[in-house]
Amino acid sequence: MGDVLHGTGIGRGIAVGTVLRMPDPLPEPADDTSALTPDAEKERARASLAATAAIIRLRGERAGGSAKEVLEAQAFMAEDPTLIDDVGVRIDSGKTAERAVYEAFAAFRDLLVSMGGYMGERATDLDDVSQRVVAHLRGVAAPGVPDPEHPFVLVARDLAPADTALLDLSKVLALVTSDGGPTSHTAILAREKSIVAVVGVAGALELADGIEIVVDAATGDVTVAPDDATRAAAESRAAELKAARSAATGPGALADGTPVPLLANLGSADGAADAVEKGAEGVGLFRTEFLFLDSATAPTVEDQKAQYVRLLQAFPGKKVVVRALDAGADKPLSFLNDAAEENPALGLRGLRALRANEPILRDQLRALAEADAETDADVWVMAPMVSTVEETRYFTALARQLGLKTVGVMVEVPSSALLADRILADADFASIGTNDLTQYTLAADRLLGSVASFQDPWHPAVLKLVGEVGKAGRATGKPVGICGEAAADPLLAVVLVGLGATTLSMSPSALADVRAELARFTLEEARRFAELALSANSAVEARAAVTSAATP
Ligand code: PEP
Ligand code: MG
Repeated sequence: MGDVLHGTGIGRGIAVGTVLRMPDPLPEPADDTSALTPDAEKERARASLAATAAIIRLRGERAGGSAKEVLEAQAFMAEDPTLIDDVGVRIDSGKTAERAVYEAFAAFRDLLVSMGGYMGERATDLDDVSQRVVAHLRGVAAPGVPDPEHPFVLVARDLAPADTALLDLSKVLALVTSDGGPTSHTAILAREKSIVAVVGVAGALELADGIEIVVDAATGDVTVAPDDATRAAAESRAAELKAARSAATGPGALADGTPVPLLANLGSADGAADAVEKGAEGVGLFRTEFLFLDSATAPTVEDQKAQYVRLLQAFPGKKVVVRALDAGADKPLSFLNDAAEENPALGLRGLRALRANEPILRDQLRALAEADAETDADVWVMAPMVSTVEETRYFTALARQLGLKTVGVMVEVPSSALLADRILADADFASIGTNDLTQYTLAADRLLGSVASFQDPWHPAVLKLVGEVGKAGRATGKPVGICGEAAADPLLAVVLVGLGATTLSMSPSALADVRAELARFTLEEARRFAELALSANSAVEARAAVTSAATP
């Protein structure tokens, strides 16, 4: 058997196939002095930037779904006035349009990379736009996804949205990238389309076209030139996973019949139909930030109510948990957050920001109560970033006063997990946001690439806090949901149930895999896995211990 390369697996799938590499990027444009006038070069640049934006937009329209949104964002990059000005300045200094575009995009890219995290991962998008504009200026084909007749494993540095949107999924067996983390576009789209993927694989770009590899997202391993036994084992696991996925239908439950309702995380009412189709038993987290983004003031009660009614009508008789506006830190809103904060994640965010702007909170709760009265979904409401018992009392009192019946809080801060028994004495339910809980437990900014390795919800310290909330839930008889990304990791989902979670909420595309994994284990086994994970010293050890206990 050949080498085993390692990266971060997305999901639990496994695939065997031959490598096909993304073509190499265009060579860097030479830094020659232009033979044309600056005005002529500027016109060439303007025309190619505009044409590229139009082509990307057209691809987005053809692709639809979330690809449309990411491609739209990419088209905006080609139209960014600051970038276009920078191209002009470089042309005025004697550069060709090709060189000026290349340099201006590279400078902006470096800026994004220095910001790290989510912004850093957008650097690939910018490189892609730059390459497309330069190709247009040269009159050559834009670099892009290969389209052979046979199935293949696509190996690339990192895929740009323009590439992923056009992938022929019937031929792509798996994705392997050398760059990009769990929040890169490759990872997001792999999750959404259920493609086997391992990202951030050192050495991936040395894989030769045509060589056979096994891509195992559960372990993050990429096995080069597998022997017969390894290939056969991988093929039979792929077949088992496929069978388990199609066999697991209906409501979420463990192997012993313990129900674990599987709910959807939604960011707007537009995703509701898709969530229902994928078997969501309700909504565990409705993020309301989209109602407030891109506007200078809060939306009116009427506007909000219309959106809530649209959402609730998609889930008659089902539970829908709506989260009050979570502004600040990774979701800044100009009219709510003070930009002068040095550590916004520790500042006036979530419920703290709402409390400082109580009329906005009151309007939101009123709009939701009115929508509740007009529809027959089971409406729950919760506050984000609650860190004290006093904040819990404040929020539950206000929401109940404004007519909401089931009022809870998100547990995203260690203090709330540690005092969950007292919080649940007042709140009707708790919902654990593992993204923020991990950030605050490990003291690692979730947006900062340099500390991304700390952002792992398998960490025993995070799981211990989840266990505290689970215990408090059992003691008070109140529900404890999980709505962070952790719930979408199938094996971790089993551990979370073992720690006391009573429902799991995730992006709809993750529902099938989580449903299938839950059906494999009993509550007793889930509790044993939880014990194993809790007794590990690190996230890596916890994941390895449970993976090996769960592997037949
Ligand atoms: C979380 O923090 O886990 C969560 C679900 O909320 P968000 O990701 O929106 O902060
Ligand atoms: Mg959060």
